Amino acid sequence: MALRFVIIGGGPGGHAAATHAAKLGAEVTVIERDVIGGAAHLWDCIPSKAMIATGSSLHQVNDSEQMGLTDVVAHLDFDALRDRIQSIEQRLEGQVTQLLESQGVRVLRGTGRMVGPHEVVADTADGEVRLEADAILLSTGSRPRIPEWAEPDGDRILTTRDAYPPKELPEHLIVIGSGVTGVEFVHMFTAFGCRVTLIVSRQQVLPQKDPEVAAALEHEFVNRGVKLFMGARAEGIERTEDGGVRVACDDGRVATGSHALLAIGSIPNSEGLGCEAAGVEVNDWGYIDNNHHLQTNVPHIYVAGDLSGRLPLSSVASMQGRKIAEHVMGLHTREHRHLDYDKAASAIFTEPEIADVGLAEADAFAEGRKIRVTKVPFSTTAKALINNAPRGFVKILSDPATGVVLGGSIVGRHAAELISVIALAVTAGLKVEDIVDSLLVHPSLAEALAEAAD
Ligand SMILES: Cc1cc2nc3c(=O)[nH]c(=O)nc-3n(C[C@H](O)[C@H](O)[C@H](O)COP(=O)(O)OP(=O)(O)OC[C@H]3O[C@@H](n4cnc5c(N)ncnc54)[C@H](O)[C@@H]3O)c2cc1C
Repeated sequence: MALRFVIIGGGPGGHAAATHAAKLGAEVTVIERDVIGGAAHLWDCIPSKAMIATGSSLHQVNDSEQMGLTDVVAHLDFDALRDRIQSIEQRLEGQVTQLLESQGVRVLRGTGRMVGPHEVVADTADGEVRLEADAILLSTGSRPRIPEWAEPDGDRILTTRDAYPPKELPEHLIVIGSGVTGVEFVHMFTAFGCRVTLIVSRQQVLPQKDPEVAAALEHEFVNRGVKLFMGARAEGIERTEDGGVRVACDDGRVATGSHALLAIGSIPNSEGLGCEAAGVEVNDWGYIDNNHHLQTNVPHIYVAGDLSGRLPLSSVASMQGRKIAEHVMGLHTREHRHLDYDKAASAIFTEPEIADVGLAEADAFAEGRKIRVTKVPFSTTAKALINNAPRGFVKILSDPATGVVLGGSIVGRHAAELISVIALAVTAGLKVEDIVDSLLVHPSLAEALAEAAD
C-alpha cells in the first residue's frame, strides 16, 4: 500500500511537499481552507511584488527623459491595477491546482485538524472527511500580526492584506514598521505619488541588514520626501474627525495622515490544528519546533513554511516541502544536501533593489572572522549606464585563504536576479576565480559581479 501523506495547508510549503511526494509514489491529500497556492504567498508576497512592478514602470516612464524620450507621461489606473493583481493571483492558483491534480494529489477544500497522531479531519462544505495518515505535514502559514493597540477597519487602518491595493489610493500613508514589508510599502506608495510617513522603531530602517545597504535606502526615501520618525514606536492609532488617522508614538510624537498601515510582522497559524490531540508541541510563540528534517517532536509529523519558525520566505517554504517529501519517502538514507538557512538568498523589492545571501560583513566582523570584501559600483559597468541606472553596488565576501565565496550583497536594479550567481557560488562552495573565469555577456550588469570577484 502507498504511504498515506496528509498535508494541512496548500501554500508553497504544502504544495511543494505534495507534488514531490506524489511523484515519489505517495498517496497525498492536501487540505486547504482559503486559496491553493497559499494565503501569505498569493495574498501578500505576489500582490506586493505586482504593485511594486507597476510602481516601477510608472516611475521609469515618468523619468524617461534621460533615455532620450520626451513628453511621456503615465498615470496610474487603479482599477486596472486591481484587475492585474487578481488575474496574476488567479493564474498562479490555477497553475498550482493543475499541478497538484496532474500528480494525482487529492485536494480537499476545507479546514484541517488532527484528532490523533495518525488521524486528520477536514471540515468541508460537504461535511467532515476523516483521513488516516502515515505521515502528516503542518504547513498552515501565518497571518499579519495585529497589536492590541490597533483595530484595523479595512478602510483607513490597514493590515498588509487590505493593501493590495487598498480601496482608494492613500493621500498620505503612515507605515508602521520598517522591516522588509514596511520598506516595500513605502517604496510602492511613493512610486504611486502618495505622501508617506514611516515609523522606524530603531535608528535604522531594516535593522537586520547591512548598515550600508540600509543607508542607501534611507537616502532614497529622504529624496522621495518620506518623513522618517526614527527611534519611535507606535503605541496607538485612532481615526480623526476629518476621516483620517492619527498614530501616537512612545516618544510623544504624533503622525497624522489619511491611512495607516501595520507592517509589524506575522503570527503563525497554529491554533485549532489539534496539536494537543496529536502530541505535537507548540512553543511559546506559537511556532512548532523541528529538527533539520523538519520533523516535530512526533517523528511522522512534519512542519514547513512560516509555521516552522525558520526563515519566513516562500522560497524557503518550497524547499522545506521538497526536503520533507524526500524524507517521508525514505530518500534521505542516500547522500543529500541539508537545507542550510544561512545560504538562503533574499531580496527587498525597493528602489534601489536590495539582495543578499550568505555571510554578512557585519556578522563576520562581530565574529572576528577574517574575510576579503570587494565592492564594485554599478556606475563602472556599461550596461548600468545604458539602462540609466548607475546607482548601487555589488559586494562579495570571500575567504582570503581559499578564495571560497562566503556571501554577498547587491544594491541596484535587478539585484534580486543577480544575487543568484552569488547564491549558487555560496551553495556550491565555488571560489571567486570561478566567477572571474566565467565568460559573461557584455554588456551586462553581471559584469560587476565578475569585477567584484576579481
Ligand atoms: C507582505 C509580504 C511580502 C512577502 N514577500 C515575499 C517575497 O518577496 N519573497 C518570498 O520568498 N517570501 C515573501 N513573503 C513570505 C511568504 O509569503 C511566506 O513565507 C510564504 O507564503 C509561507 O508559505 P507557507 O506555505 O508557510 O504559508 P502560506 O503561503 O500562508 O500557506 C499556508 C496555507 O495554509 C492554509 N491554512 C491555514 N490553516 C489551515 C487549516 N487549518 N486547514 C487548511 N488550510 C489551512 C492557509 O489558508 C494558507 O493558504 C512575504 C510575506 C508578506 C507578508
